[in-house]
Amino acid sequence: MNAIVVGGGIGGLTTAAFLQRQGVRVQIFEQAPEIQPVGAGIVLAPNAVRLLRRLDVMGMLQQQALKVRTGWQFRRWHNGQILLAQDMDECESLYGEAAWLVHRADLLDALLAAVDKDSLHLGHQCTNIEQSSSGVTVTFANGASTKGEVLVAADGIHSAVRRQLIGQLGARDSGLCAWRAMIPRDRLPEEFLSPTQTLWLGPGRHLVHYPVSAGRTINVVAFTPAQPGETVESWSAQGKAEDFQAEFAGWDGMVGQLLEAVTQVGRWSVLDRTPISRYTYDRVVLLGDAAHPMLPFFAQGAGQAIEDAAALAASVELAGDWPTALTAYDRVRVPRTAQVQQASHSRSEVNHLPDGPDQEARDDAFAGQDPLRHSDWLYSYDAQAEAKQAVLANDDKTGPRAFSRKGSAVQENNGG
Ligand SMILES: Cc1cc2nc3c(=O)[nH]c(=O)nc-3n(C[C@H](O)[C@H](O)[C@H](O)COP(=O)(O)OP(=O)(O)OC[C@H]3O[C@@H](n4cnc5c(N)ncnc54)[C@H](O)[C@@H]3O)c2cc1C
Repeated sequence: MNAIVVGGGIGGLTTAAFLQRQGVRVQIFEQAPEIQPVGAGIVLAPNAVRLLRRLDVMGMLQQQALKVRTGWQFRRWHNGQILLAQDMDECESLYGEAAWLVHRADLLDALLAAVDKDSLHLGHQCTNIEQSSSGVTVTFANGASTKGEVLVAADGIHSAVRRQLIGQLGARDSGLCAWRAMIPRDRLPEEFLSPTQTLWLGPGRHLVHYPVSAGRTINVVAFTPAQPGETVESWSAQGKAEDFQAEFAGWDGMVGQLLEAVTQVGRWSVLDRTPISRYTYDRVVLLGDAAHPMLPFFAQGAGQAIEDAAALAASVELAGDWPTALTAYDRVRVPRTAQVQQASHSRSEVNHLPDGPDQEARDDAFAGQDPLRHSDWLYSYDAQAEAKQAVLANDDKTGPRAFSRKGSAVQENNGG
């Protein structure tokens, strides 16, 4: 079996690593001329860590990662009152793995070490795909082209493949913009080094911080109302440190201290997207952000891409043919990722309630929660086991055993 992967980010590299281990011949095509250490902090929850452990990347990653001691710790914006704290002591006994705080660049490094070096082709920007009864042909901006049995589109939030398959991407303005900064540890006191995902909640905005890179850097991300007409959605767009500080003027002194240490900040608008009803279009399968771009409020963007990759490979392993594997992938990944997308979406309102009765009711509800077990649906999920079950469920001989048609243009109501 062979496959083409478009996109050498977290989803694409994880897919290639899993499939190559099973003997599938995979070629990865990434648009960037080199894999750069772009990005910042990423939280890996047990649902993703158990899969990376099976891929043997956790050994390398743990050298740079920090094990989470307190998971989500929600604090009140003006006085620092702790509203909820997810004690992770029981996490490993409940879910078999801890959660980890990592730098995206460290995760990419560990994944790169897990793929066959000769299979990665940099400087290849996919511009077109074409399906036929014998395979799928991918054309690149540099004039090259390649053909394979299946194409895995892991080309991220602005996926060109998804755009070609289903047209309009269905992006809506969320009314929010994101801020991102990395602060060297020597600019902040010890208390910011605790491996805790601290989230400050206030009217119309919230701010998250935690250490990464073995404690050398503090990652800060925040969400505030966007300016009207603001639409640039890019991890490399820049903002001004003084504007960032002004957004949180009057917040608790700890937030002020954190933001005073910021010298460079990213700033971009956050778009919201409706779940779509399928990820498989004959020989082409969408994966990661190309399939289910989500608001970042559940810290599961990378985790869901890793689940997709592991699920796809587990389906292939058990099914032994692409059509059965892709049917199982769709069956299992569409509902799971839609649930996470919707859960993330719902937090944009809950996190930003104005002070008043609704906010008090929310905070009372936090106080009554068992925050670790509250995440059971997310953390206990084993994407490989679920995918194998979906293959077996499809084993009623009614499922497709061959690709059904040649067409490549599919219209789908994607909410856009
Ligand atoms: C530069 C960058 C920085 C990020 N930083 C963070 C962060 O700090 N924290 C966080 O939680 N999430 C971050 N993310 C998002 C996070 O990586 C994704 O939500 C998640 O990992 C899903 O993975 P993915 O593989 O679907 O997408 P990504 O990891 O975004 O990978 C997509 C890859 O596809 C490539 N690509 C795009 N279009 C084409 C094309 N036409 N042809 C070939 N290749 C193409 C991109 O260059 C990229 O390497 C970042 C994403 C990017 C691209």
